[in-house]
Amino acid sequence: MELRRASSLDELDGGLLLSGGTELVPLLRNGLVQGDSLVDIRGVVPRGIDGPRIGAGATLAELECDPQVPDALREACRLAASPQLRNMGTLGGNLLQSTRCWYWRLNWPCRLHGGDECFAQEGEHREHAIFANDFCASAHPSDVAAALVALGATLRTNQRELTVAELYRLPTEDDRRTTTLAEGEVILEVEVPAPERSVYLKAMERKRWAFPLVGVAAARSDGVTRIALAGVAPIPWLLEGAVEAATPLPRNAYKVDVAKALVRRAEAALETS
Ligand SMILES: Cc1cc2nc3c(=O)[nH]c(=O)nc-3n(C[C@H](O)[C@H](O)[C@H](O)COP(=O)(O)OP(=O)(O)OC[C@H]3O[C@@H](n4cnc5c(N)ncnc54)[C@H](O)[C@@H]3O)c2cc1C
Ligand code: SF4
Repeated sequence: MELRRASSLDELDGGLLLSGGTELVPLLRNGLVQGDSLVDIRGVVPRGIDGPRIGAGATLAELECDPQVPDALREACRLAASPQLRNMGTLGGNLLQSTRCWYWRLNWPCRLHGGDECFAQEGEHREHAIFANDFCASAHPSDVAAALVALGATLRTNQRELTVAELYRLPTEDDRRTTTLAEGEVILEVEVPAPERSVYLKAMERKRWAFPLVGVAAARSDGVTRIALAGVAPIPWLLEGAVEAATPLPRNAYKVDVAKALVRRAEAALETS
């Protein structure tokens, strides 16, 4: 496979876009993504943090310690992955990571791979979705995306501007994709409005270095609180009603209790911080 370094956005030539490679390289190695060439985009995607504007090439490690970054986003980065991964992994790559559903990662021919069955629904789904899980029960793994959705952040790509929430879509029979990103579309920058207060809380299997079983981001702006969850739906989940509206599977109802407790704690933290 050829590896090229792009020095302008005109030099992508249909290659697979590579940032830190912490997600793409394992997917390639395991045959979950195929391509003839890789294009390293780190030279053409902005990286700095300038007030509300954050380059999509910024690493999670850079975000977690920058005081310009709202608390919810800093904490979501700090609690993600391991220090080594956060040193390499970028904001853009984090938003576009694939599901951790073990059936999908083992390349079972499930619905998300274009097949006609969701193996998790009938099989092992302890870590799967409790919302919007009727077609595909995968749980979105990005702490960072949930924080950005709660913060009402927007994205600038080489083709358009959109909210972070609009980057994601639920997969359907006709279209199995979980993002709205077009072929050759590159995320360049994220704009994060400064909230009055924000917080990110995360429940994990271990105390550190694990994907969210449930992550809860809450942000208050102009007296209005937005709450978004990680690990509970196939996409980052903006909570518009009560957690009780969840439709858990037989072996993941515990996530409803965890989500309720974290939402309660996040709201209390916004009151007192
Ligand atoms: C063991 C492990 C644990 C992890 N734990 C967590 C966790 O707890 N919480 C969490 O949120 N994340 C977690 N992650 C995910 C990690 O944060 C991501 O792998 C990382 O941020 C991806 O960034 P990258 O630059 O390495 O992306 P890459 O691997 O380079 O790319 C990932 C995908 O994004 C695309 N892409 C990258 N940048 C752009 C861009 N600017 N525009 C368009 N497309 C782009 C690539 O083409 C590819 O499809 C974990 C990962 C691992 C391997
Ligand atoms: S949850 Fe989604 S990714 Fe996992 S087996 Fe079901 S359809 Fe596939």
